[in-house]
Amino acid sequence: MKVAIVTGGSSGIGLEIAKVLIELDYLVYALGRDFSKTDFENKNFIKRECDLKNRKEITLFWELIKRQRVDILINSAGVGYFGLYENLSLDEIDEMIEVNLKAPLFLTKLFIKNLKVTKGYIININSISAIKPAIYGCVYGATKAGLRHFGKSLWAESRKSGIKVVNIEPDITKTNWFDDKNFTYYNDKEYYIDPKDIANLIKNIIKSNLTITDIVIEPQKFRVEKK
Ligand code: NAP
Repeated sequence: MKVAIVTGGSSGIGLEIAKVLIELDYLVYALGRDFSKTDFENKNFIKRECDLKNRKEITLFWELIKRQRVDILINSAGVGYFGLYENLSLDEIDEMIEVNLKAPLFLTKLFIKNLKVTKGYIININSISAIKPAIYGCVYGATKAGLRHFGKSLWAESRKSGIKVVNIEPDITKTNWFDDKNFTYYNDKEYYIDPKDIANLIKNIIKSNLTITDIVIEPQKFRVEKK
């Protein structure tokens, strides 16, 4: 059975990706801190509590499955604190770097040998902020741009092995992401991306023979709402 690791598998984009991979007969290890947010249950949906800020917890997870085959690593977990740069706290800056950048780098480092064996996929859920200036999101954008650049370099470095690295840059997507923010999506489907569409896109990438390295997804129209 093929195996996928999905960070951020407890909600939003990561959870939808996990569901699609299960439909494709993958065993999915979903990483998150709080699975009470979803009532999704499936025998192939393995919930693993893991705080990605904590290197020990990441390493413990790796120890647990390091001898298994691994076909896909999806880095979807992320945090975002937005506002004028001078108003961000050092803790907020630190957390974004830990979760959005360091954790995917650590997981990739730990599982890359398994992924080379299966000629598997590393799929990074970045953000549109990775490719254009992120006003009020300087650090968030920097972490996403860093992850995207890492992915591009890693693929160039290891393409001969058959491994595939896909960077996905979505804009506003309708998830719980906005619950703790002072802005949110405009609730009309022309103005947001459905996380199920991102998951289906990943299904199509996996099923195609094409090596796709970078995808930008934007809603047809742009508007966000202040809360
Ligand atoms: P979401 O529903 O809030 O999902 C965020 C996920 O990250 C949750 O599963 C959360 O799990 C996980 N996470 C956060 N901190 C963590 C930690 N310390 N340890 C382990 N897991 C942690 O939002 P989403 O929209 O699906 O976000 C997924 C990704 O898409 C993020 O990387 C985000 O930057 C990116 N993105 C989102 C949008 C958007 O508009 N929604 C646009 C562009 C890019 P727990 O809370 O269970 O720990």
